Amino acid sequence: MVFGSFLNVVALRFGKKSIGGRSACPHCRKVLKWHELIPILSFLVQRGKCGNCEAKISYQYPLIELFTGLVFITVPLWMLPVFCIYIVILIYDFHHKIIPDTLVYSVIIISLLFGRHLLAGLIIFTFFALLWLISKGRIIGFGDAKLGLSIGLLLGGAQGFSAIVVAFWIGAIVSLFLMRRKGLTMKSEVPFAPFMILGAWLGMMLNLDLLHVISF
Ligand SMILES: [Zn+2]
Repeated sequence: MVFGSFLNVVALRFGKKSIGGRSACPHCRKVLKWHELIPILSFLVQRGKCGNCEAKISYQYPLIELFTGLVFITVPLWMLPVFCIYIVILIYDFHHKIIPDTLVYSVIIISLLFGRHLLAGLIIFTFFALLWLISKGRIIGFGDAKLGLSIGLLLGGAQGFSAIVVAFWIGAIVSLFLMRRKGLTMKSEVPFAPFMILGAWLGMMLNLDLLHVISF
């Protein structure tokens, strides 16, 4: 969860000029004390508010801390560097609706070195690239295709394919929910990388093989 706290900061400061400096409340700029920086606990104790100005703290912080904690106890050690970068991509895409090339090329290279499922990577990449081409970038971004390449390379056919199916399921459920609650329309742009990364985690952790289930 401490790593999650760090990844939150990395994602929010990614691509900005000043990457250093101590964490402060984005509303009143008060520098946070050590006891305000404890993952999850600080958020709960302060009831999601800044101790100084009472501004609401984003749910992103405790949720990412919790997710990172879960990732660290469920993902094999050699996959952790990739998943840490996935989490940064998840946060960045959520905010900016784009996946930075530096991050996605990094995970492609690491996945290629350690995962080596070349065919699975290429099939998933081609699927997303075609979807991007046909929809002229409306359904999916090209960054999602690159992320799909990494997921395939890392997880292989069974888990990789399952990750993508699960991503579409979660994406559909969340989109329907947002349409009802927030008046989102079919044309609204919903970042897809967070669903793909959740899918990759579930596919890997549960050792899913939906391809096999479907074709039995
Ligand atoms: Zn404040």
